[in-house]
Amino acid sequence: AAKKAGKACWRFYEPVLLQETNEKMVLTNGLRRGLERGEFLLNYQPQYDAAGKRLIGFEALLRWNSAEHGFMPPDRFIPLAEQTGLIIPIGEWVFKEACLFARRLADMGKAAIHVAVNISPRQLVADGFVATVRSCIEAAGISPGQIEIEITESIFIESVEDAIFKLSQLRELGVVLSLDDFGTGYSSLTYLKSLPVGVLKIDKSFIDEIVSDQAQLHVVGAMINLGHNLGLSLVAEGVETEKQLKILSEYRCDRIQGYVFSKPLAAEAAIRLVTDSASGD
Ligand code: C2E
Ligand code: MG
Ligand code: MG
Ligand code: MG
Repeated sequence: AAKKAGKACWRFYEPVLLQETNEKMVLTNGLRRGLERGEFLLNYQPQYDAAGKRLIGFEALLRWNSAEHGFMPPDRFIPLAEQTGLIIPIGEWVFKEACLFARRLADMGKAAIHVAVNISPRQLVADGFVATVRSCIEAAGISPGQIEIEITESIFIESVEDAIFKLSQLRELGVVLSLDDFGTGYSSLTYLKSLPVGVLKIDKSFIDEIVSDQAQLHVVGAMINLGHNLGLSLVAEGVETEKQLKILSEYRCDRIQGYVFSKPLAAEAAIRLVTDSASGD
């Protein structure tokens, strides 16, 4: 009877499973071909000081303009790229491209404007990641300190020791490490003091409520103080309103990223912004 029930169950789920696998295959092939056809691009979102006077850096954000699937935001394809391992070649392309953008800034005399790049846990654990980072930086002829690498707390799910070892190697290279989505993962406080990071990014979900919720504001204030006490620089992400900006400025947050200043920009628009603004050095 159990066997029979199992079989019935299987039959019930089969079409759904097949459909899901098929969709994934189509999308996976699309990602692979997209890389060959040059369908990926980076947008750059500016980061300013809390007064909004100085342009400090950009975060590079991946976009996929797919021939078959249309415009796809990263949240819709990065998880699949991670599952299939395609994040390795895609991530390599991202890194190369971001370094070339940093090179353009350096050529404008704006090497003090950094470029932040997001990486997945899968990339960090892959063999040769540190070597890839080094060779991209060397090929672009930029200073490693112009590159910030954004990691998330999820890198610790696999192996804490391995992650910390790789991060230390990156740190020795001279790149700046930044902990993205700070506070949304686990173990942050346990590992924070042993991490070679220089920057903490406070997640948008915390910023959203600082105007309406006093308790949430205290949490963000504590994060900023904690970071500063550890010698770290603080970035607030997803800042949308002047009110939020004012509060974060009062709390001495070092950098602001969000729609209040700018959405992510195409490369050429980002370059124009640099030309037009007081920035970097
Ligand atoms: P993230 O690294 O936390 O990036 C911040 C996200 O918040 C970006 O979404 C950005 O466009 C959005 N954002 C910034 N300011 C505001 C704001 O004021 N309001 C609102 N509503 N949103 C704001 P995006 O570009 O869709 O990227 C989503 C996530 O995809 C990123 O989150 C990051 O985890 C991942 N991602 C993006 N590019 C890459 C990449 O090259 N490699 C990897 N591995 N992941 C990437
Ligand atoms: Mg990020
Ligand atoms: Mg984030
Ligand atoms: Mg995120």
